[in-house]
Amino acid sequence: STAMAAGSPPPPPPPPPHFVLVPLVAQGHIIPLVDLARLLAARGARATVVTTPLNVDRLRGVAEQAARAGLPLEFVGLPFPPAGSGLPQDCQNADMVADNSQFLPFFFALRELAGPFDAYVRSLAPRPSCIISDWCSPWTAGVASSLGIPRLFFHGPSCFFALCEIMAVDHGLLELIAAAGDDERHLVPGMPVPVTVTKATPPGLFCYPGTELLRREAMEAMRTADGAVLNTFSDLEAQFLEGYEAALGKPVWALGPLSLCNRDEDSTTSRGKTAVDGKQAIMAWLDEQAPGSVVYVSFGSVARKLPKQLFEIGHGLEDSGRSFLWVVKEREAAAPEVREWLDALEARTAGRGLVVRGWAPQLAVLSHRAVGGFVTHCGWNSVLESIAHGVPVVTWPHFSDQFLNERLVVDVLGVGVPVGVASPVMIFDDESAPVARGDIARAVSALMGGGAEADERRRKAKEYGEKARRAMEEGGSSYENLTRLIQSFTRSEDKEH
Ligand code: UDP
Repeated sequence: STAMAAGSPPPPPPPPPHFVLVPLVAQGHIIPLVDLARLLAARGARATVVTTPLNVDRLRGVAEQAARAGLPLEFVGLPFPPAGSGLPQDCQNADMVADNSQFLPFFFALRELAGPFDAYVRSLAPRPSCIISDWCSPWTAGVASSLGIPRLFFHGPSCFFALCEIMAVDHGLLELIAAAGDDERHLVPGMPVPVTVTKATPPGLFCYPGTELLRREAMEAMRTADGAVLNTFSDLEAQFLEGYEAALGKPVWALGPLSLCNRDEDSTTSRGKTAVDGKQAIMAWLDEQAPGSVVYVSFGSVARKLPKQLFEIGHGLEDSGRSFLWVVKEREAAAPEVREWLDALEARTAGRGLVVRGWAPQLAVLSHRAVGGFVTHCGWNSVLESIAHGVPVVTWPHFSDQFLNERLVVDVLGVGVPVGVASPVMIFDDESAPVARGDIARAVSALMGGGAEADERRRKAKEYGEKARRAMEEGGSSYENLTRLIQSFTRSEDKEH
């Protein structure tokens, strides 16, 4: 420029904005926010993830990779659980909650992180540019407002769910549902497509008895936030994003699929925590299978099944005749009779069936060409990871937002086959086994088989997968949204004056 030619030095670049991210301490919330933190750091911002000591431990692999790559990304562990909560010391993540009786104490103990969080943020100089905290962590709101720090909320489910939720609240639908009979179906008002819900599948989080206060606080923190961050992308949910931004009356940043920031083996296998030993064996087994022939079966990080439901799944997969890779949690496979049963199943289905016991490298599996379908509980991360890799799904929702995620996947996007459940199970170790082997065999056969419908699902999934990839590349909608988000929190000379 002429100014430079005349010899005056260019103004120093503004300091990078500092984002402090506070996920709910559950894998389905930590994983996408850690992905976002890595993206922010890779794109020139500074990022700090605030969680608890045990979760910091689990994320050591991610921290080490970031350090090797020179990314300004750090992890902070606030002390938890608080004294007097009655929770065991290791109960620091939803997947460590031992049973349903610990569920509420766990959520109420989390509210007490407000004090330590306040002290931590006050210790930072300069103050962070922006706090991005989970919709389920409304205790961060007071800290942000008392220090005058802008706050965005991260909402974990689909935008379709988020819009149903805000419409339901704005139109008093939750009260209506509560007063109505069990069998009544209710149309969610204000949705661009028809959506019906029941008492068993209400359009909201924290709709369980005892969670009313948590729900009120979360709604309030949503209303007072400066905007929303969602893990979705414009080509997938444009109509719902538009509606959500209008209903919320503040900016909604669609930044996903966040999982696509994991491009190498190191990062796909250390998401959330380090995957089971034998990851090489899993990938080698997949290498031997024909393209698109394997159905991957996993129900996220939280839901736990008792043996009788596990056995139905096993039989269903065996009866389907398809190749399968099934993830069974450590706790589910703890009993010797379950371990023996799984060994016997593997022996009967040798060559076409593999059972992973523990934390699977889900992203690496979904990105393998052998995988042609996914039986999922419809946690939004799993659904979006599947779509991002062009893999259609069998939908088996378990609780909370998962039922509406199913409606999006089946009715709107056309990439899912429902297994056919209409009501939720208890979060941990439900006594009922609502899905029988026949349901599983039928849904898996429909998903993996031939025919016009199956082909159409595969075609659509593939198309969304390509659009997802483009959204995250330079020039793509999510990529450019992130650019604008970072810019809007970069202190320029103009803004300071
Ligand atoms: N996940 C994984 N390995 C497992 C189970 C889950 O990597 O064995 C990851 C999965 O890829 C996803 C997250 O854990 O990113 C689960 O989130 P989701 O929203 O699907 O379900 P939730 O656990 O919240 O019910």
